[in-house]
Amino acid sequence: MHTILVVEDDHALRDVLLRGLRDEGFATVAAQDGAGALRLAGDTVDAVVLDVGLPDADGRDVCQAMRANGFVDPVIFLTARHRLTDRLSGFSAGGDDYLTKPFHLAELTARLRAMLKRAGPAGPAPAGELTLDPARYTVTVRGRDIALTPTEFRLLAALMASCGDIVSRRGLIRAGWPEGAHVSENTLDQYLSRLRRKLRQAGSDLTVRTARGVGHRLA
Ligand code: CA
Repeated sequence: MHTILVVEDDHALRDVLLRGLRDEGFATVAAQDGAGALRLAGDTVDAVVLDVGLPDADGRDVCQAMRANGFVDPVIFLTARHRLTDRLSGFSAGGDDYLTKPFHLAELTARLRAMLKRAGPAGPAPAGELTLDPARYTVTVRGRDIALTPTEFRLLAALMASCGDIVSRRGLIRAGWPEGAHVSENTLDQYLSRLRRKLRQAGSDLTVRTARGVGHRLA
């Protein structure tokens, strides 16, 4: 039996989802905010239904943090927003699919089944010693919290989600800033040096390294 984590702050909708999924043969666990979602997203969960508009955090940041913390299973976003850029930034945040509200439960379960079939067995994605908390925009290094700005948070989440592989500078700008924002090379470099400084001050062995002309990676 597959276990689905439902993250939704609207009580009525959450209850409908939980009851519907159980009727369809899924086991369920539920969270009403991003902090709860991060606590529950682990080995016992096979897929996540994640509301984008949560009270304590943006669902896309929650998804990025899950990915950076090593959660590899499918994530489907629920969003009331219809703009294409929102959908695209959902995918760049590590989501696998999205549904716009209102939707039919039958469509959600069909998509969940398809995603679970595609996902199959997957290896863990180690994130090293860093843990992200999108509700507070902090990264924890060996039990010590470091406060980040939302942009620093998104940059670090993108670097952590690639598990040590290089992320292009364009990819980092896409992850860190809203679609269409004008971000100079200089600005990106300033943010990356602030991240390096914060990681160093927190005693992290990992830092943001530069592959000249290619991009950056966490190592
Ligand atoms: Ca909501």
